[in-house]
Amino acid sequence: MKSFTYERAKTPAEAAAAVARAPGAKFLAGGTNLLDLMKIEVETPTHLVDVQDLKLASIEPTPEGGLRIGALVTNTALASDARVRRDYGVLTRAIVAGASGQLRNKATTAGNLLQRTRCPYFYDTNLPCNKRKPGSGCAAIGGVSRQLAVIGSSDACIATYPSDMAVAMRLLDASVETVKADGTTRIIPIADFHRLPGTTPEKDNALAHGELITGVTLPKPIGGMHLYHKVRDRASYAFALVSVATVIQKDGTGRVAFGGVAHKPWRVEAAEAAMPQGASAVASQVFADAKPTEQNGFKVPLAARTLASLIAQAKA
Ligand code: SF4
Repeated sequence: MKSFTYERAKTPAEAAAAVARAPGAKFLAGGTNLLDLMKIEVETPTHLVDVQDLKLASIEPTPEGGLRIGALVTNTALASDARVRRDYGVLTRAIVAGASGQLRNKATTAGNLLQRTRCPYFYDTNLPCNKRKPGSGCAAIGGVSRQLAVIGSSDACIATYPSDMAVAMRLLDASVETVKADGTTRIIPIADFHRLPGTTPEKDNALAHGELITGVTLPKPIGGMHLYHKVRDRASYAFALVSVATVIQKDGTGRVAFGGVAHKPWRVEAAEAAMPQGASAVASQVFADAKPTEQNGFKVPLAARTLASLIAQAKA
């Protein structure tokens, strides 16, 4: 591991300013992804600003009838919150489908949104990777791509984004709250938070350097049956080949978002009008522009079949 300096911030604005001052600085919260990446020198921050003392670990109701989740709320605390379990069941189901109990005890809401791809070439510093080293190439294109993206990818990167939690948040139209070094705040709809790779796959999201996530807001509950299903190569502690988050109302209308298929949670709102017609009608629109590799074309029909099983479950 490369050497680095360390400090603990006392306020969000102080943390944002401390990272903004140093081009090589990063925030540290639960550390469940960042520290692993530092050990293998995929991430090499020169300075860490530890945010764990900030008062950002509570879940509060909003005046609009939703919930505001502090950035430091752990995945375990969020998934087990009685209000989340009752009104946003898809979020609880998605979170407990991810990682392991130990990791969820430590991982934070903001950190989960910021976790980096699990593309195997991203982790291998002997091989080219535009996300790790811009301009070096992409070893996954023409390489082993079973786990990687089928839609929204580019000639520079075909990585997938690994979070389960974020797929449910995308379904629920969550918003990400941030603060910058100058103390200004902004609210980013989660649809705009994660980026597609384009020609700059090194940028995973819309945050500026030194911009700190302070919380995530969920709109008021939308009712319906909340379901999340994750298809993976083993029953636990594995990333999704495909995951489906859905909320289905009694009349068959609903929402659906997909994980494991793109560089961000994948939701096409226009396709949701086809929910009463069934999974194939939805999936044919959601994946109309899919460009799978020779190894991962199975993901497109798998996504449709997984949605079909959830629609059948909702009808039963
Ligand atoms: Fe790197 Fe993206 Fe290519 Fe994977 S798919 S090797 S993360 S550039």
